[in-house]
Amino acid sequence: MSAPVRKKRVIRRVEVASTRRISPGVQRVELTGESLRTFAVPLPACHVKLVLPGPGESEPTLVDGPDGPALPDGERRPVLRTYTPRAWDPGSLTLTIDFVLHPAPGPASRWALAARPGDRLAVAGPGRGYERDPATTSLLLAGDETALPAIATLVATAPLGLRMTALVELPDPMDRQPLTGAVVTWLPRTNGEPAGGLVEAAVMESQVDGHVWVAGEAAMIRRLRRHLLGTGVPAERLVTRGYWKAGEPNHTDGDHGQD
Ligand SMILES: Cc1cc2nc3c(=O)[nH]c(=O)nc-3n(C[C@H](O)[C@H](O)[C@H](O)COP(=O)(O)OP(=O)(O)OC[C@H]3O[C@@H](n4cnc5c(N)ncnc54)[C@H](O)[C@@H]3O)c2cc1C
Repeated sequence: MSAPVRKKRVIRRVEVASTRRISPGVQRVELTGESLRTFAVPLPACHVKLVLPGPGESEPTLVDGPDGPALPDGERRPVLRTYTPRAWDPGSLTLTIDFVLHPAPGPASRWALAARPGDRLAVAGPGRGYERDPATTSLLLAGDETALPAIATLVATAPLGLRMTALVELPDPMDRQPLTGAVVTWLPRTNGEPAGGLVEAAVMESQVDGHVWVAGEAAMIRRLRRHLLGTGVPAERLVTRGYWKAGEPNHTDGDHGQD
């Protein structure tokens, strides 16, 4: 059997259209550019790779090849980080990204905080999102603040009649966002709880009778996956995604929570 062919991700040069702090822990940055004319969001909870300028650079280093911009190898390779298209408006060519301003800022969260209209970067992707089983009648969505953009797209695109429960852990109650159509429990870490602990406990206490989508810190996601499989949730009804890993910069975007 031949190996599956991995589709090359298109890299598009874009610039910042606007940026604002929408809540204490979230910087919303809108990106635009003519290159986005061929962009599309295939499924909710998909992701893009942001290609960021390095220190002292006004734009990321890219090489122009026959198929458009490409990433250079070696030391010139720019910084990449993974984010969720929170919104995409093909009319105005506006791609919205919500950056969590987490307590150990890396290049992406630092960049988002400093970004100004006209700043240049590139977007690679999008990568695959969540393909809903059309037969499902109930969906449990759970995660931390990095999962909220994906959860918001999952809720916004759900068909009428799908019963959705969302368990969302946040650093601050003011980081809540409307999730119309889902029964939402917000889990703010108001007493200095460690990241992931509240949503982990809430999922473990939940009765699961349908499909589950959960994303957040990688070690917590592994524990939850083991727990859910152990309580009889079939693997094909379960999507678990490690979105970041404590102590590890640039955690892989291919972490599906398996041991
Ligand atoms: C498919 C996918 C979609 C994602 N979507 C989003 C999104 O829409 N919005 C979003 O904000 N993030 C999202 N993330 C998570 C984001 O990619 C990571 O948080 C990323 O590490 C941030 O990059 P950075 O440069 O700020 O920090 P890095 O340089 O990657 O890491 C620096 C340090 O910060 C720690 N760290 C990273 N993230 C967090 C965090 N949230 N809380 C506490 N410590 C952290 C790391 O462990 C490391 O020690 C997504 C991840 C994936 C895989």
